[in-house]
Amino acid sequence: MSTIAENIAKVGARIREAAQASGRDSSTIGLLAVSKTKPAAAIREAHATGLVDFGENYLQEALGKQLELTDLALTWHFIGPIQSNKAKPIAEHFDWVHSVDRLKIAERLAAQRPAELPPLNICLQVNVSGEASKSGCAPEELAALAQAVTQLPRLKLRGLMTIPEPTDDPARQRAAFARLRELRDSLGLELDTLSMGMSHDLEAAIGEGATWVRIGTALFGARDYS
Ligand SMILES: *Cc1c(COP(=O)(O)O)cnc(C)c1O
Repeated sequence: MSTIAENIAKVGARIREAAQASGRDSSTIGLLAVSKTKPAAAIREAHATGLVDFGENYLQEALGKQLELTDLALTWHFIGPIQSNKAKPIAEHFDWVHSVDRLKIAERLAAQRPAELPPLNICLQVNVSGEASKSGCAPEELAALAQAVTQLPRLKLRGLMTIPEPTDDPARQRAAFARLRELRDSLGLELDTLSMGMSHDLEAAIGEGATWVRIGTALFGARDYS
C-alpha cells in the first residue's frame, strides 16, 4: 500500500472510532481531503482509494490541478480566504465554498455561478475563537448574513465552517466546535452541514457533530511552503 493509501486507512479508522464513541453513524461524516500545496499526483492516488472530495485554498494552484485531473469525477471544495476579484473563477470551478464570511462575497458568487451548473453549496465561516483568529464572521453577525445568503439565487446555504484557535486541550477543542453547532441550531434554518475538524482535532469535531472533517497533513504529510 502507498503511504497515502495507508494514511487514508488510518484516518478512516479514526473517523469510525470517533463516530462510534459518540453514537454516530460514520457514513454521516464526510472526509474532505485537503490537497493544498500537494501535486495532482497525490490527488490521483487518493482518488484511487475511493476519495472524491478535495479541498483547496489557493485558486491558481487549484485550477492547475483541476486541468490535470479532468479525467476523474472529483468534487472540488474551496476552503481558503476569498478576495472578491476571485469570486468568478471560484463560482465557475468549484462545487462547494466553505469560507464565505461576508455578504459581498456571497453576492458575487451568486452573480457569477453559471446557470448550467447546479447551485453552489455554501458554508458560512464563523470565527468562534474571537481575537485569536482573523477569518470568519463574528457570531453576532451570523444570523443576518445567513438570512441574506438564503435569499440569493444560484447558492445553496448548507451550513457553517470554522477553524478554531489551535489547542491540544480536547475540552477547549470541543467547546469551540460545540459553539459552532449551537450557532447552526440557533439559526432556525435547515442546515445539514458542519465543516469542522482538521488533522489534530477531528475526534473533538466529530463528537460535536461535524459532517465534513477537512484533513490535510494526516493524509498527505506535512506541507512544505518553501
Ligand atoms: C490546511 C487546511 C486544513 C487541513 O489542515 P491539516 O491540519 O493539515 O489537516 C483544513 N481546513 C482549512 C481551512 C485549511 O486551510
